[in-house]
Amino acid sequence: MSVPKKKYITTPIYYVNAKPHLGHTYTTMLCDTLAKYYRFAGSDVFFLTGTDEHGDKIVKAASKEGKTPQEYTDFISSLFRTTWDTLHIEYDDFIRTTEDRHKKVVRQVLQIIYEKGDIYLADYEGLYCTGCERYLTEKELNEKGECPDHLTKPELIQEKNYFFKLQKYLPKVKKHIEENPDFISPDRYRNEALGAIEELIKQGEDLSISRPKARLTWGIELPFDSSFVTYVWFDALLNYISALGYPDNELYTRFWPAHHFIAKDILKPHAIFWPAMLMAAEIPLYEKLSVHGYWLGWGDIKMSKSLGNAADPLELTNKLGEDALRYFLAREMRFGSDAKFSEEIVITRLNTELSNEIGNLFQRTLSMILKYANHLPKPQSHDIEQKLNAILQEVQTEYHKTMQKERTDLAIEQVLKVTGFLNKAIEEYKPWEMAKTNDENLLPLLTTIFRGTLVCFAYLRPFLPNTWEKLTNLISFVQKEVFPKELSAIEWDTQNMEKPKPFFPRFTNENH
Ligand SMILES: [Zn+2]
Repeated sequence: MSVPKKKYITTPIYYVNAKPHLGHTYTTMLCDTLAKYYRFAGSDVFFLTGTDEHGDKIVKAASKEGKTPQEYTDFISSLFRTTWDTLHIEYDDFIRTTEDRHKKVVRQVLQIIYEKGDIYLADYEGLYCTGCERYLTEKELNEKGECPDHLTKPELIQEKNYFFKLQKYLPKVKKHIEENPDFISPDRYRNEALGAIEELIKQGEDLSISRPKARLTWGIELPFDSSFVTYVWFDALLNYISALGYPDNELYTRFWPAHHFIAKDILKPHAIFWPAMLMAAEIPLYEKLSVHGYWLGWGDIKMSKSLGNAADPLELTNKLGEDALRYFLAREMRFGSDAKFSEEIVITRLNTELSNEIGNLFQRTLSMILKYANHLPKPQSHDIEQKLNAILQEVQTEYHKTMQKERTDLAIEQVLKVTGFLNKAIEEYKPWEMAKTNDENLLPLLTTIFRGTLVCFAYLRPFLPNTWEKLTNLISFVQKEVFPKELSAIEWDTQNMEKPKPFFPRFTNENH
C-alpha cells in the first residue's frame, strides 16, 4: 500500500467561547494519530490546529468575565495550546485568527474577490436580540421563537452589509462534489452536502460576510470599506491557507491542498462555503473533507473515582493514561458515526483489548525473551512462522487501507488479529514447559513470536506513542523510523533489555 508523498492535515480552528472538551480532544487526537501514521509511513506531513477568535459571542463572553476580548482570547487560546501540549499533540503550527499573518491573508483574499465583482453591498435582514447584541439564527431560538438567554422575541431589523455571490458558485461546487466521490467522506455527509446545496439554491440567498462597526468592532476590517468588519466564516476558513503563508510562502507551495477533519456540525461551511470561496479567489480546492460524528453521553457522565471529572480531557488523561485515552477514542468510534461514551464502555474496551490482549502479549513475550533467550542469535524459523506470515500479509494491506480511510477502529481490529494469533500460540506451545526439557524448538518459537509482537507494536505506534517510546528504551531497533515492510525486515538488539513492567495494568472501576 502506497502513501501520499505529502499530507497536509488540519483540525478546525476551535472557537474560544469555551474551554477544550472531549469533542475537540477527539478531533485533535485523531488528526495527530493520522499525522503520526503518515509520518511513519514516509509522507511529508504538515499538521495544523489553532483557535478562531473573532465575533460577537467572544465580545460577550469576555465582558462576562470582566476582560477585554484580547485578554479573553489570549487566555482561552492558551488553554487549548496547553491542553494539546500536555497530551503531546505534535502539531506543526498553531494559528490564531487574531494574528497579523492571518488578518493580512483575509484582507488579501477579500480584495481579490471584491475586485472580481463577487462581493457587493446590499440590505441585510435578520433577527436581532438587543440583549445579546447580535443576530440570532432561527435554530438558536426556543419553541416560542424567543432568545433562549433573554426570553424575549428578537427584532427583525435591516441594515447594509456586504454579500458574497454564493449563488454564482453553488452549481460549480455541486458539480465538483458529484464528480469527485472522495471529496467529502463518509458518503452520508457527501449526500448531506449535496442536499444542503439544493436547499441553498432554492432559497436563492447569497452569503452575508460583514457586520457594521457600529455593531461589532472585534473583527478584521474589510479592505475596501473601513466601516465594516469581516463576519465569521470568511475570516475563520481562511486560516487553512493563512497558516501556510498564502500566496507565495514555501510551505504553501509545498503543502496546499489540505485534508480537513471536522465534526458534523460544521459540515455546511466546509463543504459548501469554503470551496465556493476558493473558486472565487481562484485557489485550488482542498483535497478532502473527512467528517466525524458526536460522542454521546459525554459531559453528562457522572463523577466517579476511576474517571474523575470526565468532562475535562486532562482529568481523564490523568486517570486513564494518555495512550489508553488515545487508543479508546480511535478504537471506539466508527469514523462518521456517533459513538457512546460511558465509564463502563471505556473500562470494558480497555480491559478486554489493551490489558488482556495487547499489554499481556507485550509483557509476556518480552519477559520470555529475557528469561530464555536474551541474546538472540540470527533469526530462526519455527513452523508457526508460515502461518504468521500469511496473517501478516493480509493484515498489512488492510491496516494501511483502513488507516487511509480514517477507519482507525478497523485498523486496530487488524492488529488484534495478530495479537490473538500470537497469544494463542503461546498457550498452545507453552514455552515455559519447553524450557524445562531444553526443547530445541524453543528459541525459534520465541524468535517468531517476538517478531510478530514487534510488528504489532509498530502498527500500534500511532495509537500508543508513549508505549512505543518505552519499548524503544528497552530494545534497540535497527530501523526505528519505518513500518515493517515484512516480518523478516525487523532487526533488534535486546542486549540492554531490563525486565519490562506491565504495559497496561487492568483498568478498574472503583465504584463497583
Ligand atoms: Zn438574547
